[in-house]
Amino acid sequence: MGILFKNAHVLRDHEQQKLDVLIENGKIKQINRAISEGDHEVIPLNGKLLLPGFVDMHVHLREPGFEGKETIATGTLAAAKGGFTTIACMPNTKPVIDSSEVVQWIKNKAREVGNVRVLPIGAITIRELGKELTDFSSLKAAGVVALSDDGVGIQDAAMMKEAMNQAAKIGLSIVAHCEDDSLAKGGCVHEGVFSRKFGLKGIPSEAESIHIARDVLLAEATGVHYHVCHISTKESVRAVREAKKNGIYVTAEVSPHHLLLCDEDIPGLDPNYKMNPPLRGKEDREALIEGLIDGTIDIIATDHAPHMKEEKERGMEKSPFGIVGLETAFPLLYTHLVEKGIISLAKLVDLVTVRPAQLFQLPWGKLVEGASADLTVVNLAKEKEVNPSEFASKGKNTPFTGWKLQGWPEFTMVEGKIIWNELERREA
Ligand SMILES: [Zn+2]
Repeated sequence: MGILFKNAHVLRDHEQQKLDVLIENGKIKQINRAISEGDHEVIPLNGKLLLPGFVDMHVHLREPGFEGKETIATGTLAAAKGGFTTIACMPNTKPVIDSSEVVQWIKNKAREVGNVRVLPIGAITIRELGKELTDFSSLKAAGVVALSDDGVGIQDAAMMKEAMNQAAKIGLSIVAHCEDDSLAKGGCVHEGVFSRKFGLKGIPSEAESIHIARDVLLAEATGVHYHVCHISTKESVRAVREAKKNGIYVTAEVSPHHLLLCDEDIPGLDPNYKMNPPLRGKEDREALIEGLIDGTIDIIATDHAPHMKEEKERGMEKSPFGIVGLETAFPLLYTHLVEKGIISLAKLVDLVTVRPAQLFQLPWGKLVEGASADLTVVNLAKEKEVNPSEFASKGKNTPFTGWKLQGWPEFTMVEGKIIWNELERREA
C-alpha cells in the first residue's frame, strides 16, 4: 500500500500537467495520467501544484548553543512549513561546526528531532576565527556538504588560498561569506540613502565586492568550486558574471529579501530590516534580478537567521543582523517575481530545487520516478497575510509582516513520510 496523489499539477517541460503520483517505500514509484486507486491511501490534490521538496543551502538552525533563537526541531519544522525538505545548516553555532564530533552531534540530533533532512556545513577555520584551518578531510568524512565561515569573511587572502587548495583536493565547495572587516566595521545598514537619512554608519558595497573579486582570482588559481553566499551588490553580480565568462568555477546565491527590498524600503529604525549583507540600493536590487534572469546567480537561499525578540529590540545599531526566511520564501518569490512576470514558475522552482541540488551534487530536488519522495504541495491560489505569530520558527524577526502573498505550501513529505499537512481532509 502506498500514497497516491490524485490530480496533481506537475511541472513538465515548463508546463503544468495533470498527473497522478504514487509513493511507495519512501520513493516516487510512478508518475502517470491515471493510476488506479487500489488499496493506496489517496490524497486528492484537485489541481494543486506538486513539486519536488525545496532545497535551501543556507540556514541557521542555532543549535547547539543558541537554543533560545531556534532549535533543530523548530528550525526544521519551519522548513517543512515553507516547503523545504532538505536544508544545509551554517556552522556558526556554539560550539562552531569545526570538528567531526560537532558534525556527528548535529546529524544525530537531526535524526532524532529533525523534521526535514539536515546537511551540516563545516567551518573553514577553527571557531571561525580566521586563524587556523579546520581538518577538511575529517569534516568531509563526518559528512559535511561544504565549507563556510558564514557570518564573517575570511580576511587573510593567503588563508583563503590555502583553504581553496585543500578544499579543491578533496572535492568540497568553499561557500563564502564575503565581507572585508576594514570596510564594513561598525556599519549596521547599507551605506546609502537610508544610512545618510538616519545618520548611521553604513556598510559600503565594496566591503562585499572586494572579497568576491579577490576570491574569484583565487578560485581560478586553485580550481575550487567557489560559491558566493547572499550576493547583494551590483558590483558583486558583475564580478561573478565576468568570472563565469572566463570559465572560473564560481556560483552564487541570493536571498529573497535582497531580491524584493532595497534600503529605500526601510520604513524607519526597525531592526527587522537589519541583516548582513544589508539591504542595498535600488540599482543593486535591480542588478540582482537581472543576474537571476541571465543565470549569473544560480540559486535562491533564505539565510534564515532567527533571533530572540529581546535581541531584536536593541535598536538598529545594537541588535543582531538577520531575519527569518524559511516560511515566507516561496510565497514571497511567487507573488513578487512570478505573478509579476519577472521569472517563470518553472524557473523559480528550478532555483529552489534542481539547481541547488546540482551545485552541491545532492541526489534530491527532482520529481521523477525512482527519486526519494521529497515533495511539496503548493496552493497557488491561496492568499494569506504574513503573520509571524503563526511561524513554527522561534524567530519572528521578519520585515514582511502583513504582506499579502499568494502561493503557500500546504503539504510536505520527506522520504515518503508526511511532515506537514494543511490540505483539506477528504470527506468521510
Ligand atoms: Zn548566513
